[in-house]
Amino acid sequence: MTKIDFSQINKTAAESFNQQRNVIKRIAKGQTVLCEACEKPLTLTVLSEGESGVQCSKGCTQINLELDA
Ligand SMILES: [Zn+2]
Repeated sequence: MTKIDFSQINKTAAESFNQQRNVIKRIAKGQTVLCEACEKPLTLTVLSEGESGVQCSKGCTQINLELDA
C-alpha cells in the first residue's frame, strides 16, 4: 500500500476554493478585481441558476463556482 498525504492536497484545494469564492463575492458587490495575469478587470457571468463564473476579457482567468446562498 502506498500512503498518500491527502491532508496537504485538501488544504491547498480549500484555500484555492476560498480565494475564488472571495473574488466572486467582491465582484458581486460591485468591486473591481483584476486578473493576476493580464491585470484586466474580471467580470461576473451567471452560467445557470446557482452557478456563477468569473473571467477576464483575455480568458487567462476563468473561475466557475457553485455559490451557496
Ligand atoms: Zn487575464
